[in-house]
Order: sequence, then C-alpha cells, then structure tokens
Amino acid sequence: MADRVLVIGGGGREHALAWKLAQSPHVKQVLVAPGNAGTADNGKISNSAVLVSNHTILAQFCKDHNIGLVVIGPEALLEAGIVDNLMSAQVRCFGPSANAAQLETDTSFAKAFLDRHRIPTARWKAFANPQEACSFITSTDFPALVIKVDGPAARRVIIVSSKEEACRAVQEILQDKMFGEAGETVVIEELLKGEELSCLCFTDGVTVASMPPAQVYKRLMDGDQGPNTAGMGAYCPAPQVYLCSSAFCLGVLQTGLMRTKDDDVKILNFKCNFGDLHCQVILPLLKNDFYEVIQATIDGKLCSCMPVWSENLTAVSVVMASEGYPGDYAKGMEVTGLLQARELGLEVFHVGTATQDGKVVTDGGRVLTVTAIKENVMSAVEEAYTGVAAVCFKGAIYRKDIGYRPVHFLQPSMYVSKDP
Ligand code: AMP
Repeated sequence: MADRVLVIGGGGREHALAWKLAQSPHVKQVLVAPGNAGTADNGKISNSAVLVSNHTILAQFCKDHNIGLVVIGPEALLEAGIVDNLMSAQVRCFGPSANAAQLETDTSFAKAFLDRHRIPTARWKAFANPQEACSFITSTDFPALVIKVDGPAARRVIIVSSKEEACRAVQEILQDKMFGEAGETVVIEELLKGEELSCLCFTDGVTVASMPPAQVYKRLMDGDQGPNTAGMGAYCPAPQVYLCSSAFCLGVLQTGLMRTKDDDVKILNFKCNFGDLHCQVILPLLKNDFYEVIQATIDGKLCSCMPVWSENLTAVSVVMASEGYPGDYAKGMEVTGLLQARELGLEVFHVGTATQDGKVVTDGGRVLTVTAIKENVMSAVEEAYTGVAAVCFKGAIYRKDIGYRPVHFLQPSMYVSKDP
C-alpha cells in the first residue's frame, strides 16, 4: 500500500527530499511542513501548516493523517529531540536522536570524539572562562584561529584575523553573553586552509553506504571571495575526494573535510543530516528508490538495499540569492521563468520563496537553486547557467564560477575562467 510521507522543513534540502521521495511508487503523497512555493501543490507534493515545534501535536497530526514516515530536515529540531519524541509516540522517523545529533550540535563533543579515535582534525581547546581563553589565545602557536560557539539551535563559526580580535570575540561571547545561552563555552580551533569537500553516507548503525562526494561553494563571490554563506552552489561527484583515503568517510552521516595544500586531509565537522546543497546535488544521482533506502536504513537492513549511484552523471546546482545576502536584503520580488527552466529539463529547488497573489516571490536570502543533471560536468555547468539566465527576479545575484573547479581538476587545459 502506498504511503504518506511528511518532510519537515522549508528550504532547498526539503524540496529536494520531497522531489526524490515523490518519485517512489510506494509514496502516495508528500506533505512538507512548512515548505515553500516550490513544494506548494506540486504533483504529489503539497505544504502543511502543522506546528512542528510541538511534538505532541505533530505526533497526533501524523496519526490523524496516516503519515507512515517523517523525514526531518532542520538540525535545530533534531537537537530539540523531535525524533526521540515522535518515535516514542510510535511515529516512524528518518533522522538521528538528539543524543546522536550531538556529533553535529556540540562541537566539543565532536572534537573529543575525533581525538579519542585518532581521526585527524584541526587542533582545538574548549573554554568557559574568558581569562583562560585569552591567555591560551596569546600563547598558542596556532597560526590563525577560528572561534566556535554552540548552543540550543544556534551554532556560530567566527573566523578571526588576529589574536586581538580573537580575545575580543571570546570576551563578547563568554563575558558579555552576546549570544545569550549559546555562549556558555567556546571552542578555539586552528584555521585550516585548503579545499573543503564533503563525504556523506547512509548508516543504520551497522552498515555504512557511501554517497558520491560533493563540494559546496561557501563564499559569496567568484574566485572564493567575500563572506561565508550557507552555500552559493555545489556539484557532485567531486573527483578530488577520490585522492583522499576512504577511511575518513566511515561511520558518520556527513563529514566536512579540508584537503590542505600538502594533500593532508582533516575532518572539519560532522553533520547528522543531508546538508542543504549536498542534498540537491547528491539525490539526483541516486538510481534506486529513495523511499526504500530510507526504510531499510530505519529497519537496520541497509545491507539488503544498498543505494546505487549513477556513475556517468554529474549534478551542478547554482544558487540565486537576493542582493545584499548574507546581510540585509529585500523580500517579495516576483520570480519569473520557472516554467522555462523546467522546460529546459532543469530542476529548480526553492530555498526561500513564498506564494503571494498566485505568484512566486522571494522570501529569503538564498532564493532558489537551478540544478542540471548531465553526462559530464562541463555540460551540467552550461545547462545550469542556461537555467539561471531563464529565471529572473529583481536584485538576483549568483556566482559565475560554480562547477569550473572539477573541470579544471579533470582537464586543466579545458579550464576557461570566462563568464558562462
Ligand atoms: P561548522 O560550523 O563547524 O560546520 O563550520 C562551518 C564552516 O566554517 C565550515 O564549513 C568551514 O567553511 C568553516 N570552518 C569551520 N572550522 C574551520 C577551520 N578549523 N578551519 C577553516 N575553516 C573552518
């Protein structure tokens, strides 16, 4: 019997999850709560206004609406124990318990785990006392520093450019409590320089099934300039990862890797879930039924339903964002050209959109991503930018160099750093 699935969240990740789940013949309907304009009345997919922060109401909603599976997106909900609460109300869930999610939500916990298992990572130390933190900063031989703050539903990474700035940041966090409850402790870490890559896997606690590696472009502007963002584009597979030892990818859901100049690989972080852009470039390459893989993972039977990946396809996603992002930006700009992009065979995943008077309008810093799935990276890049040219909204910004890195990596002579 076909199932009803509830996907929780409202970004590009959740749009991509719903899109892939809707392709399964086992799935009758996908509800997305709260969703966005891309998941509103889109074939089998529609939005739901159910209150996701109240887990009792949510569990009752699932029972009343015959929801057979809940797939959770946002980390903050995992940290708040949504999976624990739904499972104890006998609602079937795909996602980690709050305890397991600590690998992502508690930096000191993750760093101690890495050290305990002798997995290479940036050197670090945690502090609750501002004076001790400052005297460490003054005496450390770390060449450059990153300050990390954990707290309920609020993780922050501050890359500082001097020891003075680091001391000021630590004082503001630990003494002045600029992040309130989130600033109880800080992790001071050495800054790693290199190429950031991601390895994801499905795991049921026994079996680990790798996904093809991906790379997300974090900086706002071309040539990796400007501030860090939630991601301006991505591609999958990332050929650079095959040079790294697969030992780094075992036993976790997602590892962020830094491949340094000397070809050293260090773990940057763990994510206990699909990253937003990772989801959009990895899932299109999954050949078998996503719903079946999820069910096998929940049942501890992943080894009997291993994911199979397209070996000859590449996915490239280009993010279109609102002018001003990651700072202040305007909302409510009409988005046009979505149909044309679809007619060109592209997938448009909505990240921050809403429906207003029957029109799709911008509703976030990152608005949507245009994803092309082609037989090689060069054609995928070209197609993705053809889609970007078709989609319009006032003040749209996007990077023009997404996907050129693997082209350069695979065929250096083909690399052309021109505007697509
Ligand atoms: P995290 O919150 O640990 O997931 O880190 C978010 C982003 O900050 C990473 O994806 C990196 O781009 C950057 N970052 C975190 N830690 C470091 C580090 N030690 N060195 C360089 N960049 C880092």
